[in-house]
Amino acid sequence: MTVLNEMKLTFLSRSANEGFSRMAVAAFFAQLDPTVDEIADIKTAVSEAVTNAIVHGYRDTIGTVYITARILEGGRAYVKIRDRGCGIADVKQAMEPLFTTAPDEERAGLGFAVMQSFMDSVRVYSKEGKGTTVVLCKTLGVRMGR
Ligand code: ATP
Ligand code: MG
Repeated sequence: MTVLNEMKLTFLSRSANEGFSRMAVAAFFAQLDPTVDEIADIKTAVSEAVTNAIVHGYRDTIGTVYITARILEGGRAYVKIRDRGCGIADVKQAMEPLFTTAPDEERAGLGFAVMQSFMDSVRVYSKEGKGTTVVLCKTLGVRMGR
């Protein structure tokens, strides 16, 4: 699919950067003239993926989180969130609602479920010891009168 615009963001896996990164991604997609709800959905999904990279991917270490955001043809918003952290042994299991490897840290195991409910598609690629890539897509402007 044709890429109409693209931005890249790299930052350290410090929790302070979670809010920054979701705002930056939202600001990039402002040019698609999204509704308040659409931008809130993207922010929530990005926030879940970035939080996962920080708390699970890099756990007790500090690493780099990489985001690529693209505007594709047809008003399609694309966001890739990548870490080079510990990776996920079983992606299918990790994506099941309520599955968490961090119950003591008050994690609900709902991050992937939230991403799936707010975006059109969620793809996850991961390799143990290598890291995790999450690709989120959502077509904006799918409503009457536009
Ligand atoms: P919540 O998001 O509700 O706080 P959670 O983070 O445990 O809880 P999910 O976001 O659905 O729930 O993730 C499920 C599990 O997948 C995590 O507990 C973790 O084991 C694994 N996981 C998710 N993202 C990553 C990542 N980037 N690197 C390593 N493991 C991950
Ligand atoms: Mg999570």
